[in-house]
Parts: sequence; C-alpha cells; structure tokens
Amino acid sequence: MTDEPALLAAQNAVHDLIARQAPLAQTLEAISHCIGIVHPGAVVAFMCFDPARCSLSMFPSEHFSASYFDRLQEVPVGSLGACFGAAAYLRRQVITEDIETDPRWEAFRAAALGEGFRACWSSPVITAEGELLGIFGTYFRQPAAPSETGKLRLRQAAALIALAAVRDRDSRRHRTLAESHRSLFVNHPDGVYEFDLEGRFQRCNAALERIIGYPERELIGHHFNEYVEPDARAFIQAAFDAAKAGDSRQYEARVIHADGHAHQLEITNFPVTSEGEIVGVYGICRDITRERNQEAQIAYQASHDLLTGLPNRAALDDRLEQDLEWARQNRRLLAVLHLDLDGFKAINDGLGYRLGNLLLAAVAERLHPLLGPRDTLARFTGDEFAFLMPALGCREEVAAAAERILATFEPSFEIEGRALHISTSIGVACSDEPVQQVHELLQHADLALDVAKQQGRNTWQWHRSKGARVVSEHVLLRHDLHAALRDGQFELYYQPVVEAVTGRIRSVEALIRWHHPVHGVVSPGVFIPIAEQTGQIIPLGRWVLCQACRSLAERVARGEHVCPVAVNISSLQFRRDGFLEEVQGILDETGLPPELLELEMTESILMGGAEQAIEMICTLRGMRISVAIDDFGTGFSSLSYLRDLPIHKIKLDRAFIQDILTSRRNAAIVQGIITMAHHMDLVVVAEGIETPAQQQELVRRGCDMLQGFHFSRPVPLTALMALPDLLPARPCPDPTAAADHQ
Ligand code: C2E
Ligand code: MG
Ligand code: MG
Repeated sequence: MTDEPALLAAQNAVHDLIARQAPLAQTLEAISHCIGIVHPGAVVAFMCFDPARCSLSMFPSEHFSASYFDRLQEVPVGSLGACFGAAAYLRRQVITEDIETDPRWEAFRAAALGEGFRACWSSPVITAEGELLGIFGTYFRQPAAPSETGKLRLRQAAALIALAAVRDRDSRRHRTLAESHRSLFVNHPDGVYEFDLEGRFQRCNAALERIIGYPERELIGHHFNEYVEPDARAFIQAAFDAAKAGDSRQYEARVIHADGHAHQLEITNFPVTSEGEIVGVYGICRDITRERNQEAQIAYQASHDLLTGLPNRAALDDRLEQDLEWARQNRRLLAVLHLDLDGFKAINDGLGYRLGNLLLAAVAERLHPLLGPRDTLARFTGDEFAFLMPALGCREEVAAAAERILATFEPSFEIEGRALHISTSIGVACSDEPVQQVHELLQHADLALDVAKQQGRNTWQWHRSKGARVVSEHVLLRHDLHAALRDGQFELYYQPVVEAVTGRIRSVEALIRWHHPVHGVVSPGVFIPIAEQTGQIIPLGRWVLCQACRSLAERVARGEHVCPVAVNISSLQFRRDGFLEEVQGILDETGLPPELLELEMTESILMGGAEQAIEMICTLRGMRISVAIDDFGTGFSSLSYLRDLPIHKIKLDRAFIQDILTSRRNAAIVQGIITMAHHMDLVVVAEGIETPAQQQELVRRGCDMLQGFHFSRPVPLTALMALPDLLPARPCPDPTAAADHQ
C-alpha cells in the first residue's frame, strides 16, 4: 500500500520546487522520490530527447554506473530501442516486465542486467503542446508490471516532469536573452538609455556617458530637458510624447555636453513595453557633430570662394532668385552690380599672384562694410565681384550705391608695405527693367560692365534698353562684320590733333566708321570689342592700317603737304605673332615713309608680358615708327613701365578732360601726368577738348597737343583736306557740321 501522506508531502515538495524554478536536477530528484513512495524499490532515470539527432540521452544520475550512463547516450528513437526508445517512438508508456525476455532490449539487455535490473517501465514526457521532451524510465531489480493506478501515477509524474522541464527551459532562455540584452545595452557603440514616463533617466550605457560627458549616476533621476538647448525642448518633448503613445521617432537635436559645447545628436525614441504596457521610453543616440560639420564645410566650400570667404558665383545664382522674389513682394528694387577691377591682370602679372591674391582679399574686405542686411557680395572668378542689393527704393539709391563702391577704391590698398592703386568698372542692372528670367539681370549687368569699361573705366554704367538692342544685335553684327569687310562698308575718318598753343594741325588720328546697310553708322565702341572677341579685329586692323598708309602715301606721292597719321592698334593685334612684319609689309607696299606713321595703343598691351611689349616697341622705334599710349590714366597706372617704354607720346583720356574745370581731383591728376611725362620727354595730348575753356585750361597746364570736337570732329579724308592748315586757338568753325557722323 502506498503511504499516501508521505506521497502527498513529496508531491507538494515537487510543486514547490517547480513553482520556485529550482534547478531541474533537484526537481527530478524529488519526482524520483515520489515514484519511490508509490513503487518501493524503483530506480528512476530521465532521458532527454534531442530532436536534431532524434535520439535520447540519459540525464546524469548517481543511481547508475558510469558505463550504463555512457551506454545510454544518443540512443536512437525507435521500436527496438528498448522500452525507452519505443516509448519515445510510440509517444506512450511502454512496459517491459522482464528485460531478459523482452526482444526490444536486445541491444541493451547485457548492460541492464549487468546493472542488476530486470524490469523497466518507460513513460514519454510530452508538453501540453505535444512536444516530446524525453522519457523517464522506472527500473526494478525483479520482473514487475504496474497496476492501472501505478500507470496513472507514472503518467502524472511524466506531466510534472514536462512542466518542470519547460519551466527550466523557459527560464534558461529568459536568462540568456536577458544577458544578451544586457551585453547589447552595455556594449552598444551608440548611446542607449531609458526614461521613465516622466522623461527622467533610469539607466544608460557607457557610450551615452561618453557622448554627453556625464556618468550614469549623475544622470539618473534627471529630466532630459536639463541637457538640451532651450529652443529644442518643445520639439524633443513632442518626440518623447509620441514614443510614450507607442510611436517611434527619429530626429536630430543639439545637446549640451558636460564640457559646455553643443553636440549634434541623431536620436531615436521608442516605447519600453512590459506585459503589453508602455512603462517608459528608450533612447538611442549617435553623435553626428563631426559629420554635420564636414557636410557644412563641404557646403561652404561649394558655395564660397576660399580666397576671400565671399559667396561664389553658384551661391549668388541661388540668391538671385530669392532676392528678386523678395524685392517684388516688398515692392523694392533689386540691383545687380557687376564689378571688374581695372587693370588687375597687370598687377597680377607684374607683381605676382601672391600679391594679386592679397589685393583681391583686401578688396573683398573693403567692400564688405558696404553690405546692407539683405545684400550679398560674391566673388566670381578672377577679379570680378558682384553685389545683389534687393532692398533699394529707387534708381537714385542704386546710383548712390554704385558711387559708394567707386569711392571705396579711392584710397590706395596697402599690401605688404606697398601702396597699390586700383579702380573698378561697374555694370548695373535693375529689377525694374523687363526680364523674362532672373539670370538675365546678371547678363544685363555684365553688358553694362562692358560699356563702363569702354567708357574709360573707374566708372559705372546702367544697363540700358538701347544696350539691349545692341546685344540682341550682337550676334547679327558678328555676321555682318564679315560681310562688311568684303563689301567695303568701312571708311576711315580723321580727326586732327593740334598744337595746344597755336592750334596748328600737327597730326591726324584715323578712326574707323562702319556704314551698316541697316543700322546706319555703327560706333567703333560697339563693334571693335565684338571684333576683338571674334578675332575679326586682325583683318579689320590690317585694313585700317593699309587704308591709312595708302591714303597718306598717295598724297605724299602727289607732293602735297601732309602730317603724320595715327592708327589705333588693338592689343590683340599687337600681341599676335607677325605684327611687326605686317606693319613693315604695309609700309613697303604703300611706300609711306615710316616717320609719318604713329601707332596708338592702350596700356593693355602690357598685360601679355611687359618685357615683350617693351622689346616690340623698341623694334618699332628702330623702324622709325612712333608709338603713343592711348587712353592714358584709365588703366593700371603703370608709371614704372612708362619709364622703360620707348614711346614718344601719351594721350590723356577724355574722362579726365571732361570735368577738368570742375573736378580738382582730375585737374590734379592731369597736372601730375603732364609734369611727369615732360620729365620723361614725352609729348602729352589731351583728348576730348570740346570747349575753349578746356583748351585754355590745358594750355595753362602745359599740355602739348589737343584733340577734340572743339577743333574738329572726325571727318572723311576729303573734308579733312578742306580744313585750314592753321586753326585759330579759339573758337573754331566746325566744317563738318553737315556731315556729322558722330
Ligand atoms: P580713341 O582712340 O580714344 O579715340 C578717340 C575717341 O574719342 C573717338 O571715338 C573720337 O571720335 C572721340 N572724340 C574725339 N574728340 C572728342 C570730343 O571732343 N568729345 C567726345 N565726346 N568724343 C571725342 P570713336 O571714333 O567713337 O572711337 C572710339 C574708340 O574706338 C577709339 O578710342 C578707339 O579706341 C577705337 N577705335 C576707333 N577706330 C579704331 C581702329 O581703327 N582700330 C582700333 N583698334 N580701334 C579703333
Ligand atoms: Mg586713339
Ligand atoms: Mg583715346
């Protein structure tokens, strides 16, 4: 008879062990004890099922010898695998009353008998879900068979074992998972942390300590708001609230490091759930300060000019659109001012790139204070800058801005102890002119800049719709120039240069005129730059030189009294290989004595390399051809070069003469140039004399020669011949009034 109270107590002990999740071996031992009470003398063995190998292996037990334990490892599940193999195979109890006679024990009989066993009852251990976990066998030292109650007890014991094994397995899994979670948390290279539902730190890993510079113990219990910039708080709170509501959020925020610096973090927040309830918020963060800084640097480099730190062309293009939009919305004028430094190349070539760069940086620095709060100053390539001024009220304000820019260039720049003078030309376009696309404003400013350059530099110029007509005709003119040479649409006009004191004609300047079949007379100011761009200046220049030499040579041949003729030479023409040979060729061909030819060139001939220009002028001088520097004073003031140039004359630009009576500054410059030129034995010609007062002023200042409408406009050769040889010093009748093509 079973000792029921002892069995009950033993069963309670088993339940208690299972509930406490005691180690499986201990629970199994207690179950064995129960079985021993029901079946005195029984020895219990547990065998685990390995689904991968479909085999059973005995669980270690002190009741069996080591050899029997070894023999019962990896026993294949099957009907012939003794009663345990069969029980696992059949998934039901298999009873062996006598091991000696049961054929299923064939392979294990000797081992079992050697162990002193005669009977064995095997029960499968199967979970409630039907998963086979193993079997347990009850061994007896005599042949024996269980009663029905005994079988039932064994099944109950099997169910308990299944429960204990599952709980054991679950808790092992749980432990493993918890451990791996912990190691993930601790070792994660990103900052990982947990907040309670109020937003207070609960725990964090070492990476977060590094990222924000506080140890975990100082963080715990503190709210995240204490570590973020005030204006980011609402935003982070919203992400936190979303996570609390079950939504995960990723965002970037600036967080204050313990060292006081703000770091840019990429943060993800998501809920912490436990048994289906949200109990807190997780955060994972990464410090992306360096990436963002690098991106910012790359973006800066893409949009800025590194020499001056100003925005570059690409950035200006972007701004332009926004500025135009803004100006329109706010009923303001957007002005685009395109600057090109006058004669910068000569400085660069003459003094070296390093000084050139320093000068550009100094120019940028000097222009900077002119910027209003909405204005942009950009540097294009080389010596070109541009202002965008989107908040101007009227054109007068635009003009004032342009004047201010010119004025900032007046004081010389001090670069490494040298005083450098430089001026700028400015083209101005304004948003009140009709444009279809915003970038046309830039084009217009660019065109106006060309005009400003032609006007003698150090000046500014509006883009005018008349300019626009010229532009639209620009392309046409290129074509027309070609036909014009072929069809003889060019003519040379001549303008006398007179002796200042006597008014006697001393020479003439040949000035080209284009009788365009559609546009009438086109100014050389318009088509010479185009011809220079297209290279047509070469045949055109040759034509002028030939024509001037031939006309004069014919008169010499007829024995007429003639004076020298000056021909304008473009620097492109001058710098081209074979120029000297071409001049010589033309003299030979026409038979003009070289003393009667003078070449006028601007300072830009020096830009290709001063030494070469000096050498060529020396050669010209050797050929007895004289050279004058035209438009003197408008370019880079190359007084030092002038000393080395074997020229005989300089022509003061009209820009200085225009207001010589009103501008003390210009009068001083003119006086300075005259004095200096006389020291160098140079003849000084003043261009653009329009009034007797200007003539008197220049005579007073010691100027040698004068040229201008006051004496005569440029006229065709025939009209020139009709001019009296000796002009009165003042005033002079204009014999060309009828045929005025200016
Ligand atoms: P430039 O060589 O400085 O010529 C003087 C310009 O001043 C001429 O303009 C002349 O008509 C103008 N002028 C002369 N006196 C007065 C005056 O009292 N008042 C005013 N307002 N203007 C005066 P033009 O003929 O229109 O020529 C403009 C420029 O075109 C010339 O400036 C020269 O640089 C260039 N050019 C003219 N013909 C030729 C040529 O055959 N070859 C080359 N390469 N350039 C030429
Ligand atoms: Mg000239
Ligand atoms: Mg000139």
